[in-house]
Amino acid sequence: MGQEDILKKLIAHCKEYGFIFPSSELYDGLSAVYDYGQHGAELKNNIKKYWWEAMTLMHENIVGLDSAIFMHPKIWEASGHVGAFNDPLIDNKDSKKRYRADVLIEEYLQKLEDKIKKEIEKARKKIGDAFDEKQFRETNQRVLSNQSKISDTKKRFVSALENDNLTEIKNIIEDAAIACPVSGSKNWTDVRQFNLMFETKLGSVSDDASKIYLRPETAQGIFVNFLNVQKTGRMKIPFGIAQIGKAFRNEIVARQFIFRMREFEQMEMQFFVKPGTEMEWYNHWKEFRLKWHKTMGMGEDNYRFHDHDKLAHYANAAADIEFKFPMGFKELEGIHSRTDFDLSRHQEFSGKKIQYFDPETNESYVPYVVETSIGLDRMFLAIISNSYTEETVTGTGEERTVMKIPSALAPVKLAVLPLTKKNDLPEKARAIIDQLKFDFACHYEEKDSIGKRYRRMDAIGTPYCVTVDHQSLEDNTVTIRYRDTMEQERVSIDQLPAIMGEKVNMKTLLQQL
Ligand code: ATP
Repeated sequence: MGQEDILKKLIAHCKEYGFIFPSSELYDGLSAVYDYGQHGAELKNNIKKYWWEAMTLMHENIVGLDSAIFMHPKIWEASGHVGAFNDPLIDNKDSKKRYRADVLIEEYLQKLEDKIKKEIEKARKKIGDAFDEKQFRETNQRVLSNQSKISDTKKRFVSALENDNLTEIKNIIEDAAIACPVSGSKNWTDVRQFNLMFETKLGSVSDDASKIYLRPETAQGIFVNFLNVQKTGRMKIPFGIAQIGKAFRNEIVARQFIFRMREFEQMEMQFFVKPGTEMEWYNHWKEFRLKWHKTMGMGEDNYRFHDHDKLAHYANAAADIEFKFPMGFKELEGIHSRTDFDLSRHQEFSGKKIQYFDPETNESYVPYVVETSIGLDRMFLAIISNSYTEETVTGTGEERTVMKIPSALAPVKLAVLPLTKKNDLPEKARAIIDQLKFDFACHYEEKDSIGKRYRRMDAIGTPYCVTVDHQSLEDNTVTIRYRDTMEQERVSIDQLPAIMGEKVNMKTLLQQL
């Protein structure tokens, strides 16, 4: 299945089963804005809980914060967002479609990389065991030519970005003969900068002084509260502040479902350290965050680091954790060593001292910051795209669609299904739920055949279904059915918490960190 088809299927599945709806659907939707339905909201909350507890409960020196979305507009001048939170945009004159110029170039580079990979795989198949990839890369003319195109373009691209040279970005697009995917033409406008922040007005007086922004990241709320938290929490460096909240970006091209939205949620942690120790912490957080991802069991090979060639002006090291989405490896989370840039700028712009007094050395300094920043919606997409499985059931040959969501994150943990609506079976089923609902998200369903009900539970990723039948009334046992293996066994109702507890409890994930 092609990537477009997979995404289409996923979007349809998410809508049909109450995970995600297009925002304002009644009015034909609002571009790149989505609503989370009944199961989506639960899954999202579970992801948040896993992140929040992994960062705060599991670290004595990390505390939480919930800062406002509206902030003083000067904050965004200090942070550099007013001046530089731009993306270079370009329009195709024939299709009238708008693109991010940097993305067009990145996609072109990726295509060249893919061509090289294909060439290598073809040769490997042909030559067999004796194939020497290094030698092939150094001698094959097509590979060498593509490799040199990649290096030249990358060099020009990095330098153009560093110097804000928009003319050169257009030249690169023209020299690479990049065509518009819609019209196929190479008839491009000039490249222009576009600021991604949404503006609005505060209060009833509508003048320039009342202009404020919807925050494009949650991090600044943490920086401007650094002293508040440090002082009131008597925090000693190194320590971190974690926050989950909405962020808004007027993205030029918002495609690929919830991968790039205009309203989204971030989970960010700023870790304040002594200057000079930042690289140690940067490496620590890279490893810890990767472990957090891998603990969910979504495939070790589906993650990789991408170290940035071009660093933002404030950073001295930066890497992305990339995940294998249906459209290939893409950024899921960023880990950035941001130096003392943010706190120093807020010190400068507010005119107030933002320093930490180190009781061990009797010195004051502006702390350095290592941040971890992950998009909650992107994490949601990673989980659902990895979980979505279409399979043929052995034995019956029947097709089923099952969401193999990590059990601890599943929106519903247990479905309790009376075999029929009669003979006290519903009452028995409800009694089971009344006993378990304090610890597990339970779902009751009595309509349709058991087979159909199992399929509906598969489609939302419920790890366990129990069926209540006449025998249950006699000996207090039920049939438990496991989502992934579809195996069924007869167990005592009293055993249910123990059977489910291990797998669906967040503690099981947290203990592995
Ligand atoms: P990109 O290069 O994809 O635009 P970015 O480098 O600008 O992302 P950051 O500013 O580092 O992203 O934001 C941190 C995280 O927030 C990203 O790793 C991503 O998971 C998430 N994120 C950023 N922009 C969006 C968006 N428009 N929609 C959904 N999630 C987003």
